[in-house]
Amino acid sequence: MGLVAKIKPSKKRKFGKGVAVCRRCGTSVGVIRKYKLYMCRRCINEVAPLMGFKVYS
Ligand SMILES: [Zn+2]
Repeated sequence: MGLVAKIKPSKKRKFGKGVAVCRRCGTSVGVIRKYKLYMCRRCINEVAPLMGFKVYS
């Protein structure tokens, strides 16, 4: 007999203040704060070619 530890991962979700939102379309899903972009992946993929770099190529 052994000890079985059940670990429940606690999900922390933030809503409201403190959540980065896409400054282009306003969504809070998949927003990347990296590089101070504050844009969602979708918008970044649209804008990236214009800015001269590739994201998620
Ligand atoms: Zn967006």
